[in-house]
Amino acid sequence: SPIRHHNFCAGPAALPTAVLERARDELLDYHGLGLSVMEMSHRAAEYVAIAEKAESDLRELLAIPANYKVLFTQGGATQQFAAVPFNLLGAGGRANFVTTGIWSNKALAEADHLFGDSRVAASSEANGHVAVPRPRDIVLSDDAAYLHYTANETIGGLEFDYIPDARRPDGSDVPLVCDLSSSILSGPLDVSKFGVIYAGAQKNIGPAGLVVVIVRDDLLDRARDDMPSLFSYQALSDAGSMINTPATYSWYLAGLVFEWLKDDIGGLGAMDIINQRKADKLYAAIDASDFYSNPIAPLNRSRMNVPFVLADSRLDKRFLAESEAAGLLNLKGHRSVGGMRASLYNAVPEAAVNALVDFMADFEQRNG
Ligand code: PMP
Repeated sequence: SPIRHHNFCAGPAALPTAVLERARDELLDYHGLGLSVMEMSHRAAEYVAIAEKAESDLRELLAIPANYKVLFTQGGATQQFAAVPFNLLGAGGRANFVTTGIWSNKALAEADHLFGDSRVAASSEANGHVAVPRPRDIVLSDDAAYLHYTANETIGGLEFDYIPDARRPDGSDVPLVCDLSSSILSGPLDVSKFGVIYAGAQKNIGPAGLVVVIVRDDLLDRARDDMPSLFSYQALSDAGSMINTPATYSWYLAGLVFEWLKDDIGGLGAMDIINQRKADKLYAAIDASDFYSNPIAPLNRSRMNVPFVLADSRLDKRFLAESEAAGLLNLKGHRSVGGMRASLYNAVPEAAVNALVDFMADFEQRNG
């Protein structure tokens, strides 16, 4: 049988082997229909059943309340950087942001590029993005239309330990918008705290090409009139996310991942425990050594993306070459920061973390 290496890629990321095996088994002839899911009309009853099952399984996993719409759209999380302000700034007001690293700053820059006036409600820039702002440090503008934050900064490895309040100084609530691309489904989440959640699929959901948006239904009438119709949450919702041809195969694969989370893992509570164990093991190994280090405040260390550096960066090339030869793939840090990064998404098994920790100890012993 094929050999699958341990894949620590930040995205597109590892998928569960059981999911890929099922996709393989269903590839040529889906359930006796004599064609693959890729070749079906998105309007066919069989495909609509696949799409609806994926949505209902996601709703069950995250316990999404009935007054939230779930959209399966495209354009990456980056398109949502634009879609969110188009959908929420129709009644005026300013987009407020908590900036904690590269992705939240990109979200702010896009809203600012489109409509100007984006405002920083709090930032971790002063501490070098090693700890997220504390709740009391988040101060919205009087005219805030919504507050956007990035729950997990995929490049920095910085994760919120709490859900921020989105409240203007006068005490009135505004929608809380969250880019959950790199930590959605890593554990249970109280969806009712959010106005909009969006996530690119290629980390914890499925293959690239799909974006999941979860939006509270009372927010569907806040859109600007000058919006591209494909960005419209209202239009997407009215059309069951099929205004045009959706990313049919990615949607199907996402559905298989949701079934795997429910049936093989046992839901997000169980996933949460496994993810905590995986992250604890890797951070403990890093902290126990002077050879490796991670700069993030313990409270905000990402469970999904663990960046680390070698004390002697001249060893980076050797570390990467030898880890790859040992079947530990994609440990190179983001090109903008260098060093290493191990992404430990849901589909990365504990055995992969064990193998990485063993490799790191061995490499240190030979080079330290
Ligand atoms: N937000 C976060 C937190 C991300 O990690 C990424 C991609 N790594 C993006 C946004 C951009 O996603 P996409 O490539 O799907 O546009």
